[in-house]
Amino acid sequence: MLHKSAWNKHNRQMLIAGPCSAESPQQFTDTLKGILPARPDLIRAGIWKPRTKPGQFEGVGASALVWTQELAQQAGVPLLVEVASAEHVEQVLEAGIRHVWIGARTTVNPFMVQEIASALEGSDMAVLVKNPVSPDLELWSGAVERFQKAGVEKLGAVHRGFTGFGRTLYRNHPSWEIPIELRRRFSDMLILCDPSHIAGDRLLVAEVAQMALDLEFDGLMVEAHVNPDAALSDSRQQLTPRALLELLARLVHRNLQSSDGVVNARLEQLRERIDGVDARLISLLQERMALVDDIGSVKEKFDITILQHERWTEILRTRQEWGAQLNPDFVRQLLFLIHQESIDRQAERFRHARESEFTD
Ligand code: PEP
Ligand code: MN
Repeated sequence: MLHKSAWNKHNRQMLIAGPCSAESPQQFTDTLKGILPARPDLIRAGIWKPRTKPGQFEGVGASALVWTQELAQQAGVPLLVEVASAEHVEQVLEAGIRHVWIGARTTVNPFMVQEIASALEGSDMAVLVKNPVSPDLELWSGAVERFQKAGVEKLGAVHRGFTGFGRTLYRNHPSWEIPIELRRRFSDMLILCDPSHIAGDRLLVAEVAQMALDLEFDGLMVEAHVNPDAALSDSRQQLTPRALLELLARLVHRNLQSSDGVVNARLEQLRERIDGVDARLISLLQERMALVDDIGSVKEKFDITILQHERWTEILRTRQEWGAQLNPDFVRQLLFLIHQESIDRQAERFRHARESEFTD
């Protein structure tokens, strides 16, 4: 069963908290003590750490399984660790741990995902699948399906953002449209957000966490460390336990709808107007594409290129001026999309014309 009720007994948003890495029994104990008042559903701890560069701290390794599990059991909260191979799965099962996550660098590789899924078959392991580092929804949902096929009943996904090129505000792009589409496809599955790995900076974790709640995620996975500045991995993004408690206290939990009939009627009215505008938008786009087809046939007949750079530059400039009240980046992206479709339609027309020339 993929349904999120397999996870969430109290029907509230789920909280997973804990250090990026379990570094020592002392660090883990102190961190645990600090975060317990937040009443986490699971404690996270990296045992084997996938690091971008060699020579960095790669986790304590299998020996940490014993003491992390023992300390989490004493705290009365189940432990969640990352596994990246069948061997990890065996060791985790042996240590009595029943919750694992699949890291972003593992989800990208179907061989590894399948190896882990096969190793888990027949166990009662709960699995959380982080998105792959690349913004590839099919890889993400494919990985989820592999665990489904392996019979994993407690299954969920974690959105941790996507690698981008160049400097950006966040460490990993949220590209919210991707988890939103995952939600549409797996409507009953638990989908959490990891604001720590998206933000990459402890000052930005709260705003990402709030956004996740406003987008109806089922909960959060947040990194916390008793002394973040001294953390052996992801030190910039980890919160102190106190900062975690403050963040949680400040989060606004909004409702899916209001209990006030007047508010709901007002929303309904606005939605109807939005429907009307969307209908006009779509019909205008259809009108535009019909014109594109006409212009394509003239160009084809008189051997004129599909693209004229000057014209395209002019289109971009004027439309951005006309849409001065909109976000320029949004207008640019929208125009890119419309323009690409216009080019594709004309190219298709050119191809057809050539094909019939040869077959005639
Ligand atoms: C982590 O959670 O510490 C981690 C390594 O995550 P990700 O796979 O999302 O980078
Ligand atoms: Mn981390």
